[in-house]
Amino acid sequence: MSTETPLDLKKTINLPKTGFSQKANLAQSEPVRLKKWTDVRLYDLIREARAGAEKFILHDGPPYANADIHLGTAMNKIIKDFVVKSRNMLSYDAPYVPGYDCHGLPIELYVDRKLGAKKANMPAVAIRRACREHASQALKRQTRDFQRLGILGEWDNPYLTMSNHYEAETARLFARFVERGYVYKGARPVYWCIHDQTALAEAEVEYHQHTSPSVYVKFPLASDPALLDPALAGKKVFVLIWTTTPWTLPANLGVAVHPDFEYSAFESGDEVYIVASELLDAVVGKCGLFERDADGNALKPKVLARFPGAKMDRLECRHPWIDRPSLLMVGEHVTLGGEADAETELDVSEARDKKATSKAGTGAVHTAPGHGHDDFVIGKRYGLEIYCPVDNSGHFTPDVEHFSGMSVFEANPKIVDFMRDRGVLLFTESYDHRYPHCWRCKNPVIFRATPQWFIAMDHAGGATVEKDEDGRDRTNFTESTSDSAASSAVPLREAALREIERVEWLPAWGRVRMRNMLKNRPDWCVSRQRVWGVSIPVFYCAKCNEAVAEPEIIRHVADVFEKESSDAWYIREARELLPEGYTCRNCGAADFTKETDILDVWFDSGSSSVAVLESRKELRWPADVYLEGGDQFRGWFNSSLMVGIAAHDRAPYNTVITHGWTVDAQGKEMHKSGGNAVPPDEVIKESGADILRLWCASSNYFDDMRSSKEILQRVTDGYRKLRNTARFALGNLNGFDPARDSVPAAEMLEMDRWALAKLDEVIRTVGDAYEAYEFHTVYHTLYNFSTVTLSARYFDILKDRLYTFAPRNHARRSAQTALYRIVDALARMLAPLLVFTADEIWENLPPDNTRPAFVHLALLPEAKGEGDEALLASWEKLFEIRDDVLQSLEEARVGKQIGSSLEAKVDLKVAGETYEFLKGYENELRYIFIVSQVELTKMEGIVAHGGNAGFTGVWKIVVTRAPGQKCERCWNYSTRVGESMRYPDVCERCVAALEEIESSFDSPGEFETQEDQSGAGI
Ligand SMILES: [Zn+2]
Ligand SMILES: [Zn+2]
Ligand SMILES: [Zn+2]
Repeated sequence: MSTETPLDLKKTINLPKTGFSQKANLAQSEPVRLKKWTDVRLYDLIREARAGAEKFILHDGPPYANADIHLGTAMNKIIKDFVVKSRNMLSYDAPYVPGYDCHGLPIELYVDRKLGAKKANMPAVAIRRACREHASQALKRQTRDFQRLGILGEWDNPYLTMSNHYEAETARLFARFVERGYVYKGARPVYWCIHDQTALAEAEVEYHQHTSPSVYVKFPLASDPALLDPALAGKKVFVLIWTTTPWTLPANLGVAVHPDFEYSAFESGDEVYIVASELLDAVVGKCGLFERDADGNALKPKVLARFPGAKMDRLECRHPWIDRPSLLMVGEHVTLGGEADAETELDVSEARDKKATSKAGTGAVHTAPGHGHDDFVIGKRYGLEIYCPVDNSGHFTPDVEHFSGMSVFEANPKIVDFMRDRGVLLFTESYDHRYPHCWRCKNPVIFRATPQWFIAMDHAGGATVEKDEDGRDRTNFTESTSDSAASSAVPLREAALREIERVEWLPAWGRVRMRNMLKNRPDWCVSRQRVWGVSIPVFYCAKCNEAVAEPEIIRHVADVFEKESSDAWYIREARELLPEGYTCRNCGAADFTKETDILDVWFDSGSSSVAVLESRKELRWPADVYLEGGDQFRGWFNSSLMVGIAAHDRAPYNTVITHGWTVDAQGKEMHKSGGNAVPPDEVIKESGADILRLWCASSNYFDDMRSSKEILQRVTDGYRKLRNTARFALGNLNGFDPARDSVPAAEMLEMDRWALAKLDEVIRTVGDAYEAYEFHTVYHTLYNFSTVTLSARYFDILKDRLYTFAPRNHARRSAQTALYRIVDALARMLAPLLVFTADEIWENLPPDNTRPAFVHLALLPEAKGEGDEALLASWEKLFEIRDDVLQSLEEARVGKQIGSSLEAKVDLKVAGETYEFLKGYENELRYIFIVSQVELTKMEGIVAHGGNAGFTGVWKIVVTRAPGQKCERCWNYSTRVGESMRYPDVCERCVAALEEIESSFDSPGEFETQEDQSGAGI
């Protein structure tokens, strides 16, 4: 059927039309979409859709519920969301339960400051209430911010380490450690922050440069020097020590020497000094101990005797100014390196590794068992008291004459002056070294022996008997439990080292790092002298002081926590927390006091695998993945491993993924004050959360992630390209009904089949990358597919067919079938990364009731099959030739020979196999090149231009102006324009198209209202 009047040509062009706008307006549109997701309970819909599927558990490491989120916290949560969303789309049932770490020092300190002087008169439970309130407020804000990032999860039911159930589980896990014989109480030197007045875990200590006074001090030998060598008989002999912590000298109880080193006793004036022979010259030089000849020249001092350190074993010195002995001991820990002799503070593995690098000191180590780890160990061996005359706030106790009440750091210079006045100081100078600092308050910490609860790394089941400071057998806490669990328990370190080998670490260096961390880890001090945490549920007999640390009793207390939270510890009396009628096993008394220490927060968060994974029916123990920053090797990865072993003899995770840090463009740490911070809320306000997410996807998160305004601008440009790719496809699917109009694969045009074959490649790469947690590969694959394969090639060529063919023409439907599959797949593949935009694409796809309502309910696309190699190779060749043709067209354009490429005719002279190959595409070439005409001729011999491996042929390209007239409808040039009476201004192709349109004019709906084409450009 033919209409009476000719059609308006403009209206017969199929211009793209879609509700998917070019401008994203994410800052405005994302909150609207979020609200919609919340209203329909999208997270629950996903759970229903995946019900019964294999579980995949990413267990969230709890962020600290204190400050607002920054770029690092946002990145951490976004990458976790990539994992969870992609696993859901890989058809796992992958729930996400976010968590918050609520106890601990930063909150307590914040509350301390807020309460000020009021705090002194407040009961602990009131302070805890204020802490709880502060954490609640902070986690509310964090939740709001995390949700805004498009992260789906159980936000209305997260896990909180301060919830009743969690606190009860934490206490039960402590019972489990006790039951297995891992727990003991002992006076040991621990890192101690005198500012925060608490013990610190190794994970809470960081090293910074620090200047200390270094001193060389004389310890008079009290034993008969003739015992060392007859030459020393009757002499005034001193052992020289060197230390950088003069404040620990009042606690000195001994001097350690190496049994195998040679020591020299040399004369200086009327005194004799003993130092390691190897350090003799250095000490003499430093302390100016040389004799002078008549002319005042320095002479080498006279060595009276040489002997091995072992000879000094158990001889006695006197303390340089306090009236008590200082025992000479031998120990392998003594070295000739400088830092080693700063024994009291630098006995941690990290610093100890550097000990032998510089020669300093005297080879005789001042030993204060209450102030250093090595000192403690050797002091124990020699039966010395673990003496610590320093109180919680770092002040000397009244015990310390001359310096009582003085803070140890203030006392340092005073002790130096005091020793100088007494004539016991030989030399002093300032000494720069790495020194442990508190990670919270950044002040230098000290080593200080206090009674603490420990988890033993190397002994279990009461294997070792060690008396604590009160002379009690430390195993007395576990002897009551003789069940099989306790007796079969493997030491924690051994079990942990075994588990590390089983776990998968991404990147792989994680295993080595964790192994090293565990090899050197000292016993875990779990006591904290604070109130905001889970109290250590241990009682003491008021009469005989026997500690009650029994698993059944602890579980009884845990049941109270379950109902009342661990506030109960502060509200109730001991007898109200103990089972009724409980009496002391030791003396039968019925009065008890409560332990005042709380558990280390790392114990809290480490308990999460059991407290969360085992307590919720949608989760399971162990987790598939833990994903955190590198600091968690000391922290959460570590404490979780300990708890996993105590609870179930295995690691609580199968895979541990470590992400890098967020840094600025120069790789520097970001600081609010440094002006280089990129606050997530500002990015969201300006560009939208999807831009922040795309930034996370665009860099390899295994390394540090750089961010700046410029970097985010590049990400935004990348986003725009992805968006425009989707928009082109959506626009050209206007009027396409997938059910009605799809063309079967076998009937599709070859080029469309090629595009789908390329899509298949991408689907495979992206699927593998999601499996491997390599999100940057996903992004770069999709970006290249969009910009090169689609935008620069496929879409470029397709425009003519899509715009000018009759709407229902088979060739156009073939293209639309491909476009539909491409954009549907793009939306799915982008969904874990661009959560908002992918769903917006999804919403604008042609209606199809086989699709779920939201892209997040869908699965990742599946590759359709193999066997496309020949097709892909052919088109690779065609595009290779096309690249050359486009180059020639560009040259012709620059030479003003042509304007648009449609004004061109291309003469392609081709030799050999390539000619035979191109012959098969002869009618397609003008569309592939986007020119009006192509003439293909066979050429004999070899020409210079073009050609490369894989094909033996070569080609020569000549561009001329296309003959004929410009078609008013499609802008191609044709010699046949004017042949039609009805449409005199159009080419023969368009005449055919117009006739096809007219013949189907009973349903013209597909092109009634057209949108401006200008937006279709990619
Ligand atoms: Zn501190
Ligand atoms: Zn008792
Ligand atoms: Zn035309």
